Amino acid sequence: MENKTPKRILITGAAGFLGSHLCDRFIQEGYQVIGMDNLITGDLRNISQLFKLPQFEFYHHDVSKFVHVPGALDYILHFASPASPVDYLRMPIQTLKVGSLGTHNLLGLASAKKARILVASTSEVYGDPTESPQAESYWGNVNPVGPRGVYDEAKRFQEAITMAYHHAHGLETRIVRIFNTFGPRMRLNDGRAIPTFIAQALRNEPISIFGDGSQTRSFCYVTDQVEGIFRALHSDYPYPINIGNPDEITVKACAQEILQLMDRPALLQFVDLPVDDPKQRRPDISLAKEILQWEPQVSREEGLKMTIAHYQSIPVEEINNKDF
Ligand code: NAD
Repeated sequence: MENKTPKRILITGAAGFLGSHLCDRFIQEGYQVIGMDNLITGDLRNISQLFKLPQFEFYHHDVSKFVHVPGALDYILHFASPASPVDYLRMPIQTLKVGSLGTHNLLGLASAKKARILVASTSEVYGDPTESPQAESYWGNVNPVGPRGVYDEAKRFQEAITMAYHHAHGLETRIVRIFNTFGPRMRLNDGRAIPTFIAQALRNEPISIFGDGSQTRSFCYVTDQVEGIFRALHSDYPYPINIGNPDEITVKACAQEILQLMDRPALLQFVDLPVDDPKQRRPDISLAKEILQWEPQVSREEGLKMTIAHYQSIPVEEINNKDF
């Protein structure tokens, strides 16, 4: 019988929303998974199910500092970074550092181990776009010195240094530009629209909508996102690829949809629009369809139902604790 050594993968940001779902997926696929996280926005409960498994190891470490992992590595997924505006506005320097120094450290590790590396970029590299939908060929409209610049520019630098390692050192690199993704394990109070709306509905509070709510977003369910990332890692395409769901909706309509699914009254409260908030977000996923044969399978309604069910299973005290 063939005795194949399992592939070893390092996943940074492992205790976060996407990182933890990626750990689950790679474990299911038979990989040896090494999770790394400094827990600034993550939660060990997201990966508690993995600690008992011999295929899983965890390092509590800040990847903006030198990163060392003993033994061979086949792949690296760099997902460590504050990702919600509330988090990166609170931690602007850490955000810039993890996108720049952190990415540099992981590219160095990938070179040393001869591993393939995939970095998590974002639709925020398109800033407040002047084109819609946004294709990978669009260079974006980012305010580098606005408050969101710390995240957007960190990710733009991340893409640039990743391509530089590919061209200068022949490193096997992959870049995914992730559009708004949602699902179980997002922090209830991390300020992102869907968990915020669900939490407010569960607390019987009015839903807070930025501006008049006419800005649009396109929400991708987490299992679709993970599948897109999995395929991108295993593709041979080194340039950025959009992964997201092109089903665009206004923020106000999304809030109304959630209230309807939760059978709550439509109580909305309009608050000031944050500085440089993008007016439109919709991925062009032609490239992902062509190269990865990938497109989302889960509708927003199905995804919202699964996400709402997850939050409904959380103890009321936790829902009511706004520090969580
Ligand atoms: P998250 O906040 O849930 O997870 C990020 C994780 O990274 C956390 O566990 C945090 O503790 C960890 N981390 C942050 N800085 C670190 C450091 N210096 N060293 C080690 N660990 C560190 O966010 P998420 O939504 O899971 O996002 C994961 C990645 O995907 C991020 O890089 C983000 O930019 C990208 N992304 C996410 C979305 C989305 O919709 N969720 C969209 C675009 C891009």
